[in-house]
Amino acid sequence: APIIVWFRDDLRLSDHPALHAAARSGAPVLCLYLLDEHSKQIKAPQARPMGGATRWWLAQSLRALSARIDAIGGTLVLRQGAAAKVIPALAREIDASHVYWNEIAQAPHLAIADDVTEALADLDIGTESFAGDLLTHPNTIRMKEGRGLRVFTPFFKRILAMGGPAKPVPAPKKLIAAPKVKSDKLDDWKLEPSKPDWAGGLRESWTPGEVAAHRLLKAFLKNIQGYAADRDRPDRDGTSRLSPHLRFGEISPRQIWHAAQFTADEHPKLQSDIGKFLSELGWRDFCRHLLFDIPDLATRNLQESFDDFPWKTDRKALKAWQRGLTGYPIVDAGMRELWHTGVMHNRVRMVVASFLVKHLLIDWRHGEAWFWDTLVDADNGSNPANWQWVAGSGADAAPYFRVFNPILQGEKFDPDGDYVRRWVPELNNLSAKLVHQPWTATPMELKEAGIKLGSDYPMPIIDHKEGRDRALKAYKTIRSS
Ligand code: FAD
Repeated sequence: APIIVWFRDDLRLSDHPALHAAARSGAPVLCLYLLDEHSKQIKAPQARPMGGATRWWLAQSLRALSARIDAIGGTLVLRQGAAAKVIPALAREIDASHVYWNEIAQAPHLAIADDVTEALADLDIGTESFAGDLLTHPNTIRMKEGRGLRVFTPFFKRILAMGGPAKPVPAPKKLIAAPKVKSDKLDDWKLEPSKPDWAGGLRESWTPGEVAAHRLLKAFLKNIQGYAADRDRPDRDGTSRLSPHLRFGEISPRQIWHAAQFTADEHPKLQSDIGKFLSELGWRDFCRHLLFDIPDLATRNLQESFDDFPWKTDRKALKAWQRGLTGYPIVDAGMRELWHTGVMHNRVRMVVASFLVKHLLIDWRHGEAWFWDTLVDADNGSNPANWQWVAGSGADAAPYFRVFNPILQGEKFDPDGDYVRRWVPELNNLSAKLVHQPWTATPMELKEAGIKLGSDYPMPIIDHKEGRDRALKAYKTIRSS
């Protein structure tokens, strides 16, 4: 009897333990992707619907996956609806003996999987779930009192002490096709924008899918020398760009881990760069482990004192930030890079987040929500955990008094201004000295650069020092309460 393999955020063939087990059983295999916007758990605030950019990515990724499944003799069936209804109905339709999937260790997904298991058990259909989405399951790293770790360094030490994650499993070479059934048409799901079609920048920037992910990893590891320093430089291509591929499970963290370890064994002088890279991968797990413990991480301050924080409501400022019109070039470059490509360099994410939360005193949840909608790597763990970290309300707390200076950050990490010029072309003709603070240019310098401040490019929406002092005052109110 056939086995259904239920694909979710694991749109790959290699290191897909559920698919591996199904293929090895010798039974016919039906691959299913379910667009679930209907389960009650998906409607809960802990599991908001995907944003625009991730919906675009999903469509491309499903096309790539479908072609790969076809090539080994299987078919990807698309269905829509609540998992606990659709999966049992499909299982009955093809007389399946089992349904397999890879676990997503997040409360709403675990609850949905429980409902599916229960509904299938009523039909005498077996289920099995496998691990593969994380370096290690949240249950494996606990403190004595049972909760997960809230500080990254000891957390990562524990992962290293385990010797890293399990070895990946290979892709099946061949699938025995299950009986043919009806499949939705991907285009009918309307995952991609049409009017207006804002996805041009995404198409230019990315090739979603498993094959592209492995190509990126290979090229990155070949050039990893210098990563530890270059990863902070938005003007250089110093990072892997794997985050959206990881988000959709087109590549697994353990595949990345073992490929990187292999490179480190071959080239011992790359050890420190690779060590740094692996620790970044560790941050992804850290954020997901936090989410495992705190399902409402995107809506609730981890530190309760922040519930009394005097946030400001300032729609105009929020809009200026979203559009990259704050008058601070490094902030505006980041926000425009995000809008165009669906990602933003990590260093710049920290700068723009700090600017929103501290200079503008706008609640981090507004920034998190904007990122959720516009990032192709928007992740239930990494996005809120990093926003809370920058705001100071989260785990592994950053000191509250750290207010990034957007001018100094620009000068330090984009010293020639190339990153700013790429995304804020209005400032193209300004020198490296002026490009991070155009308002300090003399009228003559502005004229020579062909730019009118206030019309071609805005004046800063808030003075840095004023914003900094205001932020420190606001943070003091909750520290003393
Ligand atoms: P690399 O430097 O090549 O790192 C390799 C991998 O490690 C990344 O692909 C990512 O999976 C992981 N990683 C690296 N840094 C972090 C980090 N700080 N936290 C968690 N994982 C990390 N990352 C997301 O994947 N999704 C998000 O929604 C997201 N939101 C963020 C919001 C803010 C405010 C900030 C400051 C950071 C956020 N990050 C998020 C983390 C980080 O910016 C991206 O993972 C990184 O820029 C992706 O680029 P890369 O793949 O080239 O990274």
